Amino acid sequence: MGVNLFQKLFFLLPLAYQYSPNDGSSENTDWNYDQNGADWQGICATGFRQTPIKLSVDSSLIVPLPRMYFGNYDVRLNEPLTLVNKGYTVDMTIPNTRNGQRPFISGGLLKGQYVAEGVHFHWGSPVSRGSEHVINRKRYDVEMHIVHRNTRYNDVTEALNYIDGVAVLGVMFKIVRNPNNRYPGLRKLFSAVPAIVEYGSEVELPGSMTLGQLLGDLNTSDFYTYKGSLTTPECNEAVTWTVFAQPLPISLSDISKLWILQDSNGNLIRNNYRTLQARNSRPVFYRTNKDLSDYYLG
Ligand SMILES: [Zn+2]
Repeated sequence: MGVNLFQKLFFLLPLAYQYSPNDGSSENTDWNYDQNGADWQGICATGFRQTPIKLSVDSSLIVPLPRMYFGNYDVRLNEPLTLVNKGYTVDMTIPNTRNGQRPFISGGLLKGQYVAEGVHFHWGSPVSRGSEHVINRKRYDVEMHIVHRNTRYNDVTEALNYIDGVAVLGVMFKIVRNPNNRYPGLRKLFSAVPAIVEYGSEVELPGSMTLGQLLGDLNTSDFYTYKGSLTTPECNEAVTWTVFAQPLPISLSDISKLWILQDSNGNLIRNNYRTLQARNSRPVFYRTNKDLSDYYLG
């Protein structure tokens, strides 16, 4: 026979490898950050609207956009709140609030309402910073992403097929020696991280919190906003990004908990940020409450 058993097996091997069994609690990751995404060909969309990019006041269109509106961000979330080690980040699915609704955002570049689906983080290592966006040439220590879905679509999977499907808030964290503000929601979340060192493990956060507590006292009136993509495979160009200009101060002891997390091979999850992408001819808008007249007068 021309096609023998060996050839059939050889053909099936890559599929078998790709779909190797896991414990079912987490998706099996067949990609990693060894090259910060430079080796994601074939699993990551390529286009002219990829994320992350460099942001700066100088290269932005300064326009009077509406401020962001945070609906139900001050209402307690239903329990349990579960933090999961996904092998490439820590992730918390956002449940309904106690009033049976969902936290949502509107404003900025967004048309309509976008409900919160999940929150996750990107970070560096003890010797490197790990934010995805770079603001005014500065890479921050950690970047938090709160992922929202346009209510026009039924779920995130469907929303990822549309240019207006998803809205992500990006929040920078900067390590400071003695933070004046210790944010209870963030502290609660980071305190739980050492319980999920192993890939696929989960932990319930104690007590309750609001989604807004993860924003601390963030200045939400100043932000960059543009059309981009997911920063993880499949890098769908479905995301309206809103990246706040000011970082939140956070302690080294909180952030260092992220550096001990392990992926599915038992390796440390570090520098889980994607390399900078070309901006191409995309407009980036900057919205601020500051009086920039001095800026224009030079
Ligand atoms: Zn992210």
